Formats: sequence, C-alpha cells, structure tokens
Amino acid sequence: MDRERLNSIIDEQAQRCVRCGKCRSVCPVFGEALSEPLSARGKLSLLRALQDGERLDPRQVVERLEACLLCGRCAEVCNAGVEPQLAIRAARELLRGREGLGSLWRLAYEQVLPRPALLGPALRIATRLAALTGSGPDEGSGIFYRLSRPAAMEGRALPRVSGEFFIEQPSQPRARGERRGKAVLFCGCVHNYVEPEVSHATARMVAALGYDVSVPTDQCCCGLAAHGAGDAPAAQRMARRNIDALLRDDPDWIVTNCGSCGAMLKHGLPELFEHDDPQRERAEKLASKVIDVLDLVDREARPGLIRRIEPEGGGKVTYHDSCHLRLEMQVRDQPRRLLRSALGENFVEMPGAQLCCGSGGAFSLHCPQLSRAILERKLDGVRRSGAQSVAAACGGCLLQLRDMALKIPGLRVEHPLYWLEPTEQSD
Ligand code: SF4
Ligand code: SF4
Repeated sequence: MDRERLNSIIDEQAQRCVRCGKCRSVCPVFGEALSEPLSARGKLSLLRALQDGERLDPRQVVERLEACLLCGRCAEVCNAGVEPQLAIRAARELLRGREGLGSLWRLAYEQVLPRPALLGPALRIATRLAALTGSGPDEGSGIFYRLSRPAAMEGRALPRVSGEFFIEQPSQPRARGERRGKAVLFCGCVHNYVEPEVSHATARMVAALGYDVSVPTDQCCCGLAAHGAGDAPAAQRMARRNIDALLRDDPDWIVTNCGSCGAMLKHGLPELFEHDDPQRERAEKLASKVIDVLDLVDREARPGLIRRIEPEGGGKVTYHDSCHLRLEMQVRDQPRRLLRSALGENFVEMPGAQLCCGSGGAFSLHCPQLSRAILERKLDGVRRSGAQSVAAACGGCLLQLRDMALKIPGLRVEHPLYWLEPTEQSD
C-alpha cells in the first residue's frame, strides 16, 4: 500500500476516536500493563501526534506499536466505529519502511515463509537444534521440546515439528454420500508442520459432508504474521501464490481449519491490493469462498453425521474462542453446538472463554512477559471450568495454550475436530 493510503487509514481512525476509553475495558494489553500509552486509545493518540509532526523517540514508538495483538477486541466495543488495529497495522507498515524490520524477521517473512520448500527443512533443523540446546522432550506433556536459550522463549515450549508434513502426503478423499461439490483445503503452517492430524481430520470431515477434497501442494503460509508486522510486500508475495494455488480448480469452498489463516484469507488478502490492481478481484473471489471447517460442518451436517463420544477418562472439555475466528470469521456458536452434540454434558463453558490467549502472531516474542500474563488469565478460566481438555480452533492459540499444558498436569489442548468424527452413516 502506498504511503498516502496508509496515512489516510491512520488519519481516519485516529480522527474518529472520541477518546472515551471504552476500549480499555477489553484490551488484553491494557488489562495487564494498566498503562494508558499501551491502550488502543493511547496508541491512537500516539499516531495522531506522529501525524501532527511531533518529534518522538522512534524506538519508543516501535515498542508501543508492537504491544498490540491485533485481536480487534477494541473495535468490537467502540461506539464510534473506530478500528484501532487497522491504524496500528498501517503504522507498522509505514515504520517498517523507515525503521526497518530486524534482519531475522525480514529473512523469515520475505524468504522462508513464502517457500514451503525452505520452511519445512528449516523447521526440521530448528527442532533438532532445540533438542540439542534445550532440556529435551517434556515428560509431562510428551508434546514439546523446551528451549531456554533466547530470552523471548525463556520458560516456554517449542512445538515439536511433525515427522511428516500434511502437504507431503495430503488426504484428498472423494465425496461421501450425496455429492455437493468440490472443496479445496488450506492447511496453514501449524496444521501442516506441527499438527498434520488436524488437516487429515478436516479432509475426512469435509468429504463426509459430500465434497471432493483437493489440496494444492503449492499453497504457502497465509501471510498473517508478515501482514501484522507491516511487511506488506512479503504478505503480497504469499497472497499471489495462494490465490493461484487455491483458485486453480474453481472450488465451491476454500476450507480453513485455523481462525487466523481464515481471517487472513477472507479479510487480509483483498486489503493487500489496491482497487485498480487485477489481483484485488481475484483476492475478493478467493475471500468469498473461504469458510472455516467448523462453520461448514455446522451448516451442512446431516443429523447423525457427528459421532457421539465419551472423552478419555470421562473428563470435561471446554472451548476457547480465538479472537480472529470469533470476530472476523463470525464463528462463535458453531463449535459449541458441534462439541455439545458430540460430548453432551461433558462439554462445559469456561469463564472468560472470549478472552484473548496472548498469542497474536509475533506478539508473544516481542512482548513475552505481557503475553504470559494474558495467558495466565486464560489459565485461571480453564482451572475454574473444571475441564481436563481445551478445544481451540486456531493454530496460534493451540500452541500458546499448550504452554498451559506444562502447568496443569494432564491438561489436553486440541483442535475441536479431535472430538468430532463423522459416523459411517454419512455414506
Ligand atoms: S477507540 Fe473507540 S472506544 Fe477507544 S477511546 Fe476511541 S472512541 Fe473510545
Ligand atoms: S487490537 Fe487488541 S491488543 Fe491491540 S489495542 Fe485493540 S484490544 Fe488492544
């Protein structure tokens, strides 16, 4: 996006703000830091001062802008219709040109994430290095390697990369029962490299609904992290590749299984291209076909399609709302309905299910202490629910929430599809 357009987004949002402070009541960052400059209102004031030509310490500006999850909770409650996250993202993009991204981030966004052929091997090497430099697999969860070296990762878990990525052996089942059309599956990074089982389960479920499933193997990262960091050129490069791959077979649906990937494909992609750019129309076409798998199942499942199950050990399961899934994909009640139909009274709500988990793309690395503090609140809600398992339908939330698994012995954190299996009668 050119500088003029970015400045006008910032102006528009900052001028509309009436400084009532209502957004402070829901902003997870303000809730922990209790610092006005870190609230949505504070950041909008900062941007207004920058636009007015005030001389400010550039490092401080970058630090304040990084302290935002882009969760959109501020916009949800703002009566003046301000979308602070749009202004913050535009400012990051403007400052990216001036201050530059760190070279490692630039390498990741511009060279590695758009290229699955590089990203896969890079993740395998990182996992091996983690095993060498860290304390090895965590006995408690059996899922993570712990790595204590980089400050931002102190005390945190690194996900173990899967032995076989989904894209290397994708499930592409034919429609079961009455055929409804064809669906393309977008697997995203977490559900390709870390949790391929989720993508296999997605393919099974979509086929059970009556769709032929195909998986274009040249798809890549959705670009959300690069877009959020203000690296629009890198996000655009990924968008072009995904547009070509996902529209190639003219599917009825483009199915996602991660709230953040879905939100990026549905809302972020069109925003990346100017109205006179031919890619804009293609991005909008793609966006109109994007649907989260839980939304599709909720809309189209025939009675009896979902298997009734007893959770392991009879424990309860609760559901965490991913901000992107809830606010941008409008997927709120659907997962709850489905989990209730599979689990009956073993599905329970947790206090604060809508609270952010503190993941937010690179936020957890830029602001590790805030991220952990936000996660602690979530942990408290899970404890109070009495559940032994948490369902989360976003790759970023899944990884973030699994840090909790290290603190609550025996706690399971899985994608909702873990508890949702089609019955045989869908044939
Ligand atoms: S962004 Fe909206 S809610 Fe927040 S201070 Fe401005 S007008 Fe009020
Ligand atoms: S997007 Fe989220 S973290 Fe950022 S200012 Fe708004 S509520 Fe706070």
